[in-house]
Amino acid sequence: MAQQMGNQPLIVLSDESQRTSGKDAQSMNITAGKAVAEAVRTTLGPKGMDKMLVDDTGNVVVTNDGVTILKEMDIEHPAANMIVEVAETQENEVGDGTTSAVIVTGELLSEAEDLLEQEIHATTLAQGYRQAAEKAKEFLEEIAIEVSPEDTEYLEDIAGTAMTGKGAENAKDVLSELVVKGVQSVAEDGQVDTDDIKVEKVTGGAIENSELVEGVIVDKERVSDNMPFGVEDAKVALVDGGLEVAETEIDTEVNVTDPDQLQQFLDQEEEQLREMVDALKDAGANVVFVDGGIDDMAQHYLAQEGILAVRRVKNSDMKRLARATGATPVTNATDVTADDLGDAGSVAQKDIGGDERIFVEDVEEAKSVTLILRGGTEHVVDEVERAIEDSLGVVRVTLEDGKVLPGGGAPETELALKLRDFADSVGGREQLAVEAFADALEVGPRTLAENAGHDPIDSLVDLRSQHDAGNTGAGLDAYTGDIIDMEEEGVVEPLRVKTQAIESATEAAVMILRIDDVIAAGDLSGGKVGEEDEEPAGGPGGMGGGMGGGMGGMGGGMGGMM
Ligand code: ADP
Ligand code: MG
Repeated sequence: MAQQMGNQPLIVLSDESQRTSGKDAQSMNITAGKAVAEAVRTTLGPKGMDKMLVDDTGNVVVTNDGVTILKEMDIEHPAANMIVEVAETQENEVGDGTTSAVIVTGELLSEAEDLLEQEIHATTLAQGYRQAAEKAKEFLEEIAIEVSPEDTEYLEDIAGTAMTGKGAENAKDVLSELVVKGVQSVAEDGQVDTDDIKVEKVTGGAIENSELVEGVIVDKERVSDNMPFGVEDAKVALVDGGLEVAETEIDTEVNVTDPDQLQQFLDQEEEQLREMVDALKDAGANVVFVDGGIDDMAQHYLAQEGILAVRRVKNSDMKRLARATGATPVTNATDVTADDLGDAGSVAQKDIGGDERIFVEDVEEAKSVTLILRGGTEHVVDEVERAIEDSLGVVRVTLEDGKVLPGGGAPETELALKLRDFADSVGGREQLAVEAFADALEVGPRTLAENAGHDPIDSLVDLRSQHDAGNTGAGLDAYTGDIIDMEEEGVVEPLRVKTQAIESATEAAVMILRIDDVIAAGDLSGGKVGEEDEEPAGGPGGMGGGMGGGMGGMGGGMGGMM
């Protein structure tokens, strides 16, 4: 930095920038990556613990969810961030398996560290890892179990496995049923758009009292108290515009010199509103959702006709309403015809958790559903929601792919065995990389055992011998420590959870390993990766910048300690 300014070693870089090369760069990145994995490790599995995360403003999040932890941690180190991306990709593609994916990435880096020390070139490692990953995916396909989209019980097992160890676990049976029902009802040609499943959180009540509304809940109230609270056999109109008259006409054109003239304008306006309401009534609508506003006078007319009207409905809700009821939105209320209307068995204003909302239920084909999640406190409901999101993800993916794997570390153990065999057929030093890959995969079962308080070595030995004997479904029962058939136990996960994890973990590890030069425009030493932070190499002189922000209050004491 500053002291190098005199001899200007690299004129292309500003004096603010930092450069780390070769082995130092590699080991710095590996350390950062491992630290990220370490941060989520203890949360893995049914007996994993939770983390409490507190941000600058004192907001608290209590969670077991890998990707949530990493997102909240505000990680700055660039290599560490690549691992966070692994979790994010996993979250976006599958919704579950984020912790596993991150732990595997960390272990791939850790294994690589040993091999690099043995002078195995990073490129060789990268090739070996890639080869192993390709093979691993093939092996997984081979052992995958087919599941039909109608197999509700099996799907509920999958939903339940994703909830295990999370806030939702206590009510696993109830929630799994709701999740599967929800996903099944919005599925279309084997595809599921998770946007069609809305999750509403309600603080108050027990988790088991959560429910699925097959239809849409609009977070609004009816526009006037004179309208009916509910309508049976609803004929639903959707108006994309508003039920009002553009106000500018009055503002600009009326000079109130002549009271009659004003009256005439008002009459005219009233007439237009009357026409809108008449059109709705003539078409047969008894419920109307409006994207814009509803004029007071229109409200009055609507109430007179017994029509339930809701204004300022969100665009996303309008879409859901259209899908659920089969209504076609119209831009001008005056254009509405009977054909544009949708159907719902019931539309009613109800109270959930002290909030009034409009429930649109009993629709012909609920291509849109709302899951109402209840929980005692806000933090509880928030964590239940995260578990439910994972659960929705795995059921969706299973419906789409139709393939699952046993859980509890079974596939990882199986893969490790098969990859070690495969390694023998790989020549040269890449063989070592393939073996390292196999070892790395076992971090899954090992951590499951550790977190559940069982001896990881014993568990691994037992697992291996079962798989050696051909029991591909043998996994670790986290509750008893026994090795059991996971499929029989109902611990099953979609194939894609594992293939995606292997893919992103490998890509991220390879990318990090291939870096031999880190050129940073700013200061890298302030990275906030857990407690693993090492002091900047620059000695006491470098301390100020690196630690100053986080530990301001301790500044004096720290100096003395060093
Ligand atoms: P992730 O973010 O990776 O999904 P989890 O904390 O959800 O992390 O743990 C997932 C792991 O826990 C998977 O390996 C899964 O097979 C395992 N698992 C889930 N339920 C059980 C169970 N009842 N017994 C043993 N392992 C389980
Ligand atoms: Mg999970």
